[in-house]
Amino acid sequence: MERKVRVRFAPSPTGPLHIGGVRTALYNYLFARQHGGDMILRIEDTDSNRFVPGAEDYINEALAWLGIGIDEGVREGGAYGPYKQSERRDIYRAHVKQLLDAGKAYIAFDTPAELEKARAEHSNFQYDATTRMQMRNSLSLPAEEVERLMSEGTPYVVRFLIEPGRDVEVNDLIRGKVTINSSILDDKVLYKSADDLPTYHLANIVDDHLMEVSHVIRGEEWLPSAPLHVLLYEAFGWGDTRPDFVHLPLLLKPDGKGKLSKRDGDRLGFPVFPLEWHDPKSGEVSSGYREKGYLPEAVINFLALLGWNPGDDTEIMDMKQLIEKFSLDHCSKSGARFAFEKGKWFNHEYLMAMPAEKLTELFKPVLKSNGIDFSAYSDEYISRAIDMVKSRANFVNDLWEQGAFFFKMPTVYAEKDIKKRWKEGTPQIMEELIGVLESLSDFSSAAAEPVVLGWIADKGYHLGNVMNAFRLAVVGECKGPHMFDITELIGREETIKRLRKAIAEITPAE
Ligand code: GLU
Repeated sequence: MERKVRVRFAPSPTGPLHIGGVRTALYNYLFARQHGGDMILRIEDTDSNRFVPGAEDYINEALAWLGIGIDEGVREGGAYGPYKQSERRDIYRAHVKQLLDAGKAYIAFDTPAELEKARAEHSNFQYDATTRMQMRNSLSLPAEEVERLMSEGTPYVVRFLIEPGRDVEVNDLIRGKVTINSSILDDKVLYKSADDLPTYHLANIVDDHLMEVSHVIRGEEWLPSAPLHVLLYEAFGWGDTRPDFVHLPLLLKPDGKGKLSKRDGDRLGFPVFPLEWHDPKSGEVSSGYREKGYLPEAVINFLALLGWNPGDDTEIMDMKQLIEKFSLDHCSKSGARFAFEKGKWFNHEYLMAMPAEKLTELFKPVLKSNGIDFSAYSDEYISRAIDMVKSRANFVNDLWEQGAFFFKMPTVYAEKDIKKRWKEGTPQIMEELIGVLESLSDFSSAAAEPVVLGWIADKGYHLGNVMNAFRLAVVGECKGPHMFDITELIGREETIKRLRKAIAEITPAE
């Protein structure tokens, strides 16, 4: 019988969720949705030393912002809980005991100092079949000694007994079969009595099994742990229901040289976190996609294509289309360059395609933060202004940069444009222009344009000079959308007011 698809995203709350982690969550989500499966969010907080307050909330908030839905988790609940590893100690304890009883794991008493000494004495020291009998553990010490140490409450760890000389096969759905020899593995610590907590490896395997995870989809950095995980499944007798492994390609720096790191972001001028993060210890602030003005849909589309392609050159795909098209067959093995410029392009495309009402609503707070009382304008006015400038905007904030003149008169006039376009005779011509505009019976773009252009031609004026001076007066600089579309929207009264202000304020160039 086909197994139900159940995947999990299993972050450790050790800091803000990195953009690579978001991509992992996204691929899990797409895979689950495509197969009508379940998406689990499991919080792997067994490393108490690395716990960071606020990190778990951050994960939840980031996934919610991006629309990556979770079916089972700490907040969502579910039949396989608890979904936070620190609340599953009893389960891990019982499983550690199971391995100890079966002779597949053993107890080790070596202190940090003793381990340090062993490492100093043997340059390639590894706790394994070649060294374990020289260390202090339940295999090397007499049974009474072990009992005594235990009854005295000596701190210990439980180590996995790795049998050397075995070929371990990892079948990865992207990478194919990878075989490694068990002799290179060390006897990994599975549990520490000091904090009564398992390590990542044990907790991860036990939970994937108990939560009936069908596919482990995670970053490439976890590939080296996979052989150990295969052996753990076997030791528990769960070999037959072991999940399939999928190790996603690394995200590389934009130049392709090396792994994308948390520090690359603000250094190279782009965020590597979905949301802004305020480090609770250092107070340091790292920028986030949300605060930079990215639309969640654009971030999703951008991330989906970092390590996967739909098999053709389609680029714009919303979540629904991604769910339909996603396939592991089209995931790449090699690292994906983090081409953040492309991220901006995606944002632009989503901005262009956004329904006018939605964009209008998103722009209102920007107007407000720039001191504009947007209630003085109708939604239609705002939306028409947006329409004229959005082709030049990557972000909602850019709309202000491109279209501020729709909402306020110029207060300064671009120096270089004055030099080029506002000459001795210009104020006089602008006075005449006011007269022409006043005489128009219809001030619409289509009606005004031929009349004004006709007047320029009749007078033998220089078209470029007159129109650019007009633009300088209305916009404050010689750029922007079609002139008569601007004047139609701001209206006759406002246009003439601006011309008068410019005539009064601009000193003509020599
Ligand atoms: N807790 C691990 C992490 O932080 C999970 C790795 C896995 O998915 O197995 O990424």
